Order: sequence, then structure tokens, then C-alpha cells
Amino acid sequence: MPTCRICKQHYPQSQFVSGNGPRYLTCVRCAVEQGMVEPEEVPQLYSDELVNARMALFSRRYAPWVLVILGWSLYFSFGNSLGIWSLIFFVSLIIITLIAPVIHFFGSARFKANLLKLTP
Ligand SMILES: [Zn+2]
Repeated sequence: MPTCRICKQHYPQSQFVSGNGPRYLTCVRCAVEQGMVEPEEVPQLYSDELVNARMALFSRRYAPWVLVILGWSLYFSFGNSLGIWSLIFFVSLIIITLIAPVIHFFGSARFKANLLKLTP
């Protein structure tokens, strides 16, 4: 993958503007920031809104797993000493752990569709 001349980041070839001189080996983001091209001219640009939307999509996708990992770490650190609440906590952890893969599996088509919508 080529390196951008300005920000020194590696991107796929599709993320570069074509041209010679100052446009040579310049990524679309730097080109827009430096005023070489207008944002409308580069459909492949990941704009800030797009980046935030993708971030939110990915965090929604992996939130159940984070919950499972956090829940079990909490349980193993001090969940055993809470009397009846340990049992409730343990049972809800088991339910979440069993449900998380199901949610993940059934959400994959919707996730892929949304990701495709948010890919320039
Ligand atoms: Zn750059």
C-alpha cells in the first residue's frame, strides 16, 4: 500500500487522488484538507460523519460481547460474595452469554447491509 506524502499514512490505492506535482501520492483526506480537491469530487473520502457512523455501527455490533466479558470479569473478581445477588448475577450472566452469539448471528446480515451503506 502506498504512503501518503503529507500525513505519512498507508492507504489502499483507491484512497489517493490522481495527478502529478502536489497531487502526487496525496491521500484524499489530505487533498481535501489542503484544498486541492472539493469533497464532492472524491466519492471515496471517509468524511467525519461517515467515520462516526461506522464507529457507532461497530460498537453496536460488539457491545454484547463487551458486556459478556465485563460481566464475567466482574463476577470472577467479587461476584461470589454478594449472597443472593451472586446467584441472580450468575444466572443473568449465563443468559447474556447464551444470547450474545444468537444476537451476533442474526444481526450479521443487517450489519453487513449497514456497513455497505456506510462504505463510500
Ligand atoms: Zn494524507
